[in-house]
Amino acid sequence: MKITFFSTQPYDRESFLKHQSDSSGEFVFLEAKLTERTVSLAEGSKVVCVFVNDTLNASVIHQLSQLGVQLIALRCAGFNNVDLEAAHSHNIKVVRVPAYSPHAVAEHTLAMIMTLNRKTHKAYNRVREQNFALHGLLGFDLHQKTVGVIGTGHIGEVFCRILHGFGCKILACDPIKKPAITAMGIPYVAADELFTQCDILSLHCPLNASTRYLINSTTITQMKTGVMLINTSRGGLIDSQAVIAGLKSGKIGYLGLDVYEQEADLFFQNLSEQILQDDIIARLMTFPNVLITAHQGFFTQEALDQIALTTLKNVEQWIHGEELINEICINNT
Ligand code: NAD
Repeated sequence: MKITFFSTQPYDRESFLKHQSDSSGEFVFLEAKLTERTVSLAEGSKVVCVFVNDTLNASVIHQLSQLGVQLIALRCAGFNNVDLEAAHSHNIKVVRVPAYSPHAVAEHTLAMIMTLNRKTHKAYNRVREQNFALHGLLGFDLHQKTVGVIGTGHIGEVFCRILHGFGCKILACDPIKKPAITAMGIPYVAADELFTQCDILSLHCPLNASTRYLINSTTITQMKTGVMLINTSRGGLIDSQAVIAGLKSGKIGYLGLDVYEQEADLFFQNLSEQILQDDIIARLMTFPNVLITAHQGFFTQEALDQIALTTLKNVEQWIHGEELINEICINNT
């Protein structure tokens, strides 16, 4: 039983080999992303294992089916890159890792807030140049600030707990109201109220048809002047052009991005010797109050271990014809 892994980095190979057992099957690790051009590399595999920026549109899924692939094992939580209807119509099952370490992403979200606020990245460089002046490094207390959490699933809930420890006022927005959130004294409010009330806004909802460009020129207008906006969820939640306009006008005071709509052409690669062709991210990188990380929220040892263990368990369940507890069905969207 051969499993072809697309988009692998050395750390992926290491963690999957660490957790491989006799029943895991044969692993074929590819660096290539899954696209229309690389799909033929899956030949001979019944299972493909893919990540956030692999392309799983109707055409790729059709070709996978013709090659005999019967299972798509996502080694991530989000599944916005998979055409589930196409997979269903070709009788290909899709499984994912719904929660590997919500702490990893929630803690990275906090790191972005703290860095943007207290400017530790600038202080680090200054002190190394023996510039011990504080001018330009002024921050604010997180204590008593109002933070809006959009999406209180696995990651949003952990993030709320962290904020609670800082003494923040938290407002939540999610169509599903969780007792664990209300038990912390956090009220659920409508998105409009959240936009107008918050000093900091953090996105933790999935990308789908109803959340695409949730942050756009209209919603930015509703926000407080100087708002801090953090996106560690999926790039398509934000209209980048609208955000650039918001940064230029000063409406957005701070922006932290761990994800970017066009990240598939950039992230997880060293492009330092190349000419950057993406003018939007190039513009975003010019702002002194913008912090971009390259989709590293998930990147902790604990998360990598859990991703490998859950993915291999998902594949084993499929091999043994057991119930696929982490299957994504069309109605999950
Ligand atoms: P989850 O499914 O546990 O929670 C998502 C929550 O969003 C759910 O409670 C859902 O009801 C809510 N939601 C759906 N539509 C909404 C809307 N319109 N407004 C407000 N809330 C809405 O998912 P999770 O594990 O907490 O992950 C959240 C997102 O984080 C994922 O979808 C993924 O895109 C992203 N993620 C990023 C990284 C990273 O490395 N940066 C890693 C893992 C996951």
